[in-house]
Amino acid sequence: MPGLEKILRGILKYQATLRPEMVHEFEKVKDNPEPVAVLFSCMDSRLVISRLLQSSVGDMFSIRNAGNLVPHHDCLSYDSVTTEPGALELGCIVNKIRHIMVCGHTDCKAMNLLFSIKDKMADHSGTPLVLWMKKHGQRTVDKYNAWKEGGGKSAIIFQAESADKLFEAYIDPENQFAEVDKFSQINTLQQLQNIASHPIIHDKIANDEVRLNALWFDIYKGNFFMFSRSRKQFIPVTEESYDHLFEDGK
Ligand SMILES: [Zn+2]
Repeated sequence: MPGLEKILRGILKYQATLRPEMVHEFEKVKDNPEPVAVLFSCMDSRLVISRLLQSSVGDMFSIRNAGNLVPHHDCLSYDSVTTEPGALELGCIVNKIRHIMVCGHTDCKAMNLLFSIKDKMADHSGTPLVLWMKKHGQRTVDKYNAWKEGGGKSAIIFQAESADKLFEAYIDPENQFAEVDKFSQINTLQQLQNIASHPIIHDKIANDEVRLNALWFDIYKGNFFMFSRSRKQFIPVTEESYDHLFEDGK
């Protein structure tokens, strides 16, 4: 079957070239792991995170799903547990990782789907992907609808680390992205609020041991944006913005 050849050839190539170097890196990290971030991103095949972030063995815990969603604590129960809150615990509690990042992107197929069914959210039926998007994308849809009802120009208020840590976001104020990409930016920021809903990290948050930040990737231009709470919008990650973004997000 087409496709398997690429996978097997890839393994053979890795074993013949990178393997000794990688095994050395695995050994180095084994007793002294120092991961810097828990990263939630979309499963889109174009988001090759280790290349885009130039990260390597031991650098980060990566969780990928359709739409870079992190289910809200209200959705968690024995019958409906998902991996994302467990990953938060493994990353931030067990491994004491300080930075939690959510990365969304342009032309997201999951966001395109959620956007197309946003008026049918009351119908709790559908395929597994539709159910995933409906159940865990509802808060994104609510934020988007309220924003549009207000004219689509005003700031959206999100809750970050705790109920008293609110931040405002102006979505695409220069109007350079498609409507569904604006929706994707709102979705990315909503996940920070969803992450903060989990009691498992409340103490870490209260003690300022965990930081929540959002990245967003413009696929067709290849540019990264990071949300600046002080500037209240996504701004391009450049040499010029680096100091500001570092201070803002650290
Ligand atoms: Zn996507």
